[in-house]
Amino acid sequence: MTTPKALVAGNWKMNGLKSAATEIMRLNDLVKEGGARCDILICPAFTLISTLCDINSEYVAIGAQDCHMNMNGAHTGDISAEMIKDLGCGHIIVGHSERRADHGEMNETVNAKASAAQSVGLKAIICVGETIEERKAGRALNVVTSQVKASIPSGAVVENTIIAYEPVWAIGSGLTPTATDVEEVHNAVRDVLLERFSDHGTQINILYGGSVKASNALELMSVNNVNGALVGGASLKADDFYGIISAYNEIG
Ligand code: PEP
Repeated sequence: MTTPKALVAGNWKMNGLKSAATEIMRLNDLVKEGGARCDILICPAFTLISTLCDINSEYVAIGAQDCHMNMNGAHTGDISAEMIKDLGCGHIIVGHSERRADHGEMNETVNAKASAAQSVGLKAIICVGETIEERKAGRALNVVTSQVKASIPSGAVVENTIIAYEPVWAIGSGLTPTATDVEEVHNAVRDVLLERFSDHGTQINILYGGSVKASNALELMSVNNVNGALVGGASLKADDFYGIISAYNEIG
């Protein structure tokens, strides 16, 4: 079975002003010079999407960090998947642990948001991951596979589905699971995808996220069933992010 082309995605979270456009231009130049054997995506705050899409980078796609589950209507302050698509995005992150924690989003909401993204032709990057308490209690596999099963919409197909495994305790902490622990979870997620999509499940990217940086990217990205990364802090500066992207130049 072939593996999907890797995706290295950056989540800028609530960071960046219009001046951050220079990071996209710099990243584009770095990729032009040094190459990239993976797809590259940056998901900025809503306020920057239009500015960054207008750069029309040859190598860097632009996505969003969230969307509403409805397409329009009386939802003050919210943004729909259709609006995001209209700006030129191809991806939306849904179910990030910070949304699950800060906004009380449950699997049902994540499923509805992923469905909204997919219904307008966008790819949903569905985030899952266990807390430190769940890991210590030996429940990581159970929690993550349950989240994957419950968060993938019934109408999903392999072409519009990406999973990001992000242990909550590894996000922004500088801590990472061992390669063996990452492999165990990614293999379990793959099994869920094979059950759901039969052999086509091999073609879905399963990203790892949580304190990925240039110095650990090669080790983490080389793990079986890791098909890319979702990166927070180290995606804000083009040079740091390219350090992660270039791990794929070594993996091949
Ligand atoms: C994230 O927020 O998705 C993330 C992985 O953050 P960091 O890389 O900073 O741990």
